[in-house]
Amino acid sequence: MASKRIVMFPYLAQGHIIPFLALAKLVEQRNPSYTITIVSTPLNIQNIRSSLPPNSNILLNDLPFCSSDHGLPPNTENTDSVPHHQISKLNAASGTLQPHFERFISDVIQKDGHPPLCIISDVMVAWTVGIAKKLGIFHVTFTTCGAYGTAAYMSLYLHLPHRHTDSSEIRLPGFPETFRLHRSQMPEYLRVADGTEPWATFLRRNTQFSLQSGAMICNTVEALELLGIQALRNLTGLNVLAIGPLFPLEASTSSDQRYGKKPGIQLEACLEWLDSHPPGSVVYTSFGSQSTITASQMMALARGLEASNKPFLWLVRPPAGFDLNEDFRDEWLPEGFEVRMSKNRQGLLVRKWAPQLEILSHKSTGAFLSHCGWNSSLESLSRGVPVIGWPLMADQFYNFKMLDEELGVCAELARGAEDPLEYTRVERVIRLVLDEEKGKEMKEKAIKYAEMIRAAVKEEGDEKGSSLRVLDDFIRGMEEASPGSKN
Ligand code: UDP
Repeated sequence: MASKRIVMFPYLAQGHIIPFLALAKLVEQRNPSYTITIVSTPLNIQNIRSSLPPNSNILLNDLPFCSSDHGLPPNTENTDSVPHHQISKLNAASGTLQPHFERFISDVIQKDGHPPLCIISDVMVAWTVGIAKKLGIFHVTFTTCGAYGTAAYMSLYLHLPHRHTDSSEIRLPGFPETFRLHRSQMPEYLRVADGTEPWATFLRRNTQFSLQSGAMICNTVEALELLGIQALRNLTGLNVLAIGPLFPLEASTSSDQRYGKKPGIQLEACLEWLDSHPPGSVVYTSFGSQSTITASQMMALARGLEASNKPFLWLVRPPAGFDLNEDFRDEWLPEGFEVRMSKNRQGLLVRKWAPQLEILSHKSTGAFLSHCGWNSSLESLSRGVPVIGWPLMADQFYNFKMLDEELGVCAELARGAEDPLEYTRVERVIRLVLDEEKGKEMKEKAIKYAEMIRAAVKEEGDEKGSSLRVLDDFIRGMEEASPGSKN
């Protein structure tokens, strides 16, 4: 029988590769006869390979890429290693993969004797749609953001520029008439965007390509994001497929399998430390895989965490302006901070990479002080953990707004990368979430959403949760429509 192949192409970022890999595993698990091939640059492929179990049937293919050819530091192929101010260069460089990707797909067609069933491409490399159309292959985009966040940013990019409006409240086409986004909830580059700025150009271009695709997969749960999914459908006219959550719901999956080999994971140390604190008492603090805060914000955060008197587990990274991979220096924190926090067991500092799902799953974790990246937001909800939100960039602002206004599980700590954070605010918001009535309500809601998320991927006999139903129907429909499947 001819092989049924699906080719997947994530964007060059950890927060994108992780859900892509999870999607690949899910599709493979439900369709064991399929061949799934993931395409990326050599170092990303190397990292993905280290995260796959030895018996995995997922195939990996690297496209030629050398970061220094694009003015990037050597061996930097992912937003978690490229210096923050050079991410636009990485975006531009990702576009140069086009001829290599086309050649790869042509080779696959020759080898298999027919085109792949479909190409599932990240919305940030949605230029792949041109190649799919040219070679007669069904194309689907995958936004690793939530539906609400994707609808918000796509609506903004499709309706640039925004500098010509004085209003502090922005109406977003696609969302209900009464919906407004506050100007301060737009990333800086959008507030001033005239369409020519590199981020705006990159995202608008790929958003426009996404509209030519056959459907859009979202790492979300239908019941959780009714407003966002409807907005995304209104805006794009596409079939929006809620196929989430794309991460394990049990914390037993080894970190290596999920993230690849990452330096700095200290799972046992984290769990042991969490075990020593009461249930629901710990503030897990992390800004994801690529965002950083400034040195003065870091000082204020440290002082606020200490003053709150609550235990905290903090993934510390060098402040903005320093190389993310640089060793963390004591001088970036108040004098004697780490020793003091270690002695009185109030705080544990983790460097480089934290075993996030395991931390969120631990009963001692009471709140997640987060940048509101979509994966972090959904992971927190799936564990029934309320969020203390500090969106720094991109879709994080919209995810925060959704968690706060739609779901009621988030308290705002700060807004944007320039926020002059004061330590007293950190202390106040932590107490609000962990000690006060409002925090208790947030927790109850978060637990309700955790159940909703579990239900979406539950299967009992013929009964399937919404995400599994959507995925199976989609695969069946695609197979029936594909010329490759008739071979
Ligand atoms: N992550 C992790 N440990 C870290 C940092 C990040 O496990 O120290 C994982 C996290 O669980 C999530 C992803 O990396 O799955 C981060 O994605 P998110 O969308 O939250 O933020 P981004 O990194 O894309 O800004």
